[in-house]
Amino acid sequence: MRICVDPDKCEGHNRCFSLAPELFEVDEFGIASTKNNGEVPKGMEDKADLAIANCPEFAISILED
Ligand code: SF4
Repeated sequence: MRICVDPDKCEGHNRCFSLAPELFEVDEFGIASTKNNGEVPKGMEDKADLAIANCPEFAISILED
């Protein structure tokens, strides 16, 4: 599973980082990006789904292979 953050949609609420700091990092403006090139480690898919569901800007999406 791979995820990405659309920087044009992200408003820097940091919810994703709060819910899944293993998957996201934020810059000094609070804008999020994915760690590990968006690759979600095995067993962390639920956390990725949780972050996706809680992003108010719908900025996080799943990348299809
Ligand atoms: S929850 Fe969404 S809008 Fe907020 S920092 Fe994460 S990606 Fe950006």
